[in-house]
Amino acid sequence: MTNSWLQNIQRRVFPPCCLLCRGAAENDDLCRDCFEDLPRNADACDFCAAPAAAGRCGRCLSQPAAWARAWVPFAYRFPVDRLIGCFKYSGDQIAGRVLAGAVAAEASHRLEAGTIPPECLVPVPLHPSRARERGFDQAVAVAGTIGHRLDLPVRADLIERTRPTRTQASLGAQERSRNLRGAFAPTGRPVSGHVALVDDVLTSGATAAAAAHALYRAGASRVDVWCIARGGSQR
Ligand SMILES: [Zn+2]
Ligand SMILES: [Zn+2]
Repeated sequence: MTNSWLQNIQRRVFPPCCLLCRGAAENDDLCRDCFEDLPRNADACDFCAAPAAAGRCGRCLSQPAAWARAWVPFAYRFPVDRLIGCFKYSGDQIAGRVLAGAVAAEASHRLEAGTIPPECLVPVPLHPSRARERGFDQAVAVAGTIGHRLDLPVRADLIERTRPTRTQASLGAQERSRNLRGAFAPTGRPVSGHVALVDDVLTSGATAAAAAHALYRAGASRVDVWCIARGGSQR
């Protein structure tokens, strides 16, 4: 009660302004125009979210992904790429909230249109040493905002990162999966049903695949992948 009263006063005295154009923001720190202009990952494969003309890309036809479905609403292009950089590497929590809010808005349209929601969101775990270095865990923050907006529980305790791994960006496809072999493990807490892994960027999919394997080993019946932005041209 006190908080909403305080928030009402704050919104009147300091009306929210759009993070991108400084115009009046309706909600989520973005104005409607800037939200509509965010680059969408339209015409994507239903299974790996890579650009594809329809349904299932050639790669997923010949070699199905480790997860059931990947859903990634935005493309890793300006200004999404900059916002992710500010959030991940400079710890800009407002940029993180804007991105997660935009994903939640897109997700709620999908759920209203009949997509079955997962039973919980599982942030892709960061090794504790990396989280300490960064001061926060970006996947936990994103999953927290999306879970709050969509009223879905967030379970960060189902799988863990067992060892720190090299940054994936500089590695080729084969090195990426070698780098991640055995990097995730079930914590021993029971997992059942349909879960969605949450991360910031989906590029080769090697990280999501390794985390999905750990969730299936832990007992999940279906693992989807939800990310903010799709980088790269295929998994
Ligand atoms: Zn704007
Ligand atoms: Zn595909």
